[in-house]
Amino acid sequence: MKKYKIVLVCGFSIFFGLFCNRKIPVIDSSFATEVNKKAWDNYYNSIPELKSIPGGREYEIRVKRIVDPRLEDLSDEKYANLLKQIESDVNYYLGYRIKIKDMGKEEILPFFKKYRKVFNKPQFQYMIGKHTLLLKNDEDKIRLKNSIENAIKDKPLEIVKKYVNDKSVNIKDSSQLTLYFYNQFLEKYNAIGRVAVNHGKGLLRDNEYELTQQYSYWSAILNETEDADLFITNSIIAGADDQMPLYVINRGGITSGITENNIKNSFQGAIVLTLMPFISTNEYFNKARGNVYENLLIPIISMMAVHEFGHLLDRFDEYYDLPASPQNAPVDLRYQDWYQNIINGHGFFSQLRTLKKY
Ligand SMILES: [Zn+2]
Repeated sequence: MKKYKIVLVCGFSIFFGLFCNRKIPVIDSSFATEVNKKAWDNYYNSIPELKSIPGGREYEIRVKRIVDPRLEDLSDEKYANLLKQIESDVNYYLGYRIKIKDMGKEEILPFFKKYRKVFNKPQFQYMIGKHTLLLKNDEDKIRLKNSIENAIKDKPLEIVKKYVNDKSVNIKDSSQLTLYFYNQFLEKYNAIGRVAVNHGKGLLRDNEYELTQQYSYWSAILNETEDADLFITNSIIAGADDQMPLYVINRGGITSGITENNIKNSFQGAIVLTLMPFISTNEYFNKARGNVYENLLIPIISMMAVHEFGHLLDRFDEYYDLPASPQNAPVDLRYQDWYQNIINGHGFFSQLRTLKKY
């Protein structure tokens, strides 16, 4: 009888573990082992270099909507308008004809849980464990400070200056500058995490949802997804990692969109575009964004998609110093200024640097 009970309990535990408690694994720096590093190096080296994508034909882009039910979202009508606008803007600014295929929508938690197997692959355990900073211990904070120092070290002062609002900071003093960006990052990062969601019943960054807002987890998904070429989510990517570029540090960790390698589709890449920074009516976002004209909202989000499609279809690199080009990332959340600048400058493109891999 006793034996029977053990079997029953074990059977139940296994069943519960496998089917009922499918949590997204929380991967920390201890996963960045030598073995996992080798797996990552092998994986990354095995990705073929990006081929150029010829124009003169139409490309089908599969788009899936990923929904965080706690957050504001575009109406179905506006979402449909956005897809149309992206088709037309990609053609106008990049010269590629794309036809969007709507792949429907999925809720963000079940969507992430579906990718547990991918997160658990040694190469992605390494990538996530090596770079993600959950900032729950001092070690992460030291790594954050070091990565900020690195991000500003090789940038010309003229570019760094664009991100410094406090004029009392001596931009030539690198330790003062690092400290300024570090404090500013933590202040914004914490404020974003505390944004009220679900009609005031929850916080944006809570235990269950935190990983769905992490750059590295999205990056792993994009590498292996077969669901879509472009994900549009009403959520946000607002985490910390040790590879953030200056414009992400300046926004307290917000990345508006990611284009990443993909080993399954013919574009060799996939995109996620996040809507929360554009559409949230929360005070924090309203203030950081400034007033955005209602009729410009869809064109602005679409221009962000053009930026990502510039990476995906033209293989363009990231830029900091191009006037009036979508390839220049917006400063802070001032999307409207960025958009107006592009429109006034007619979306100027010169010969841009291209990438061999994302
Ligand atoms: Zn970019």
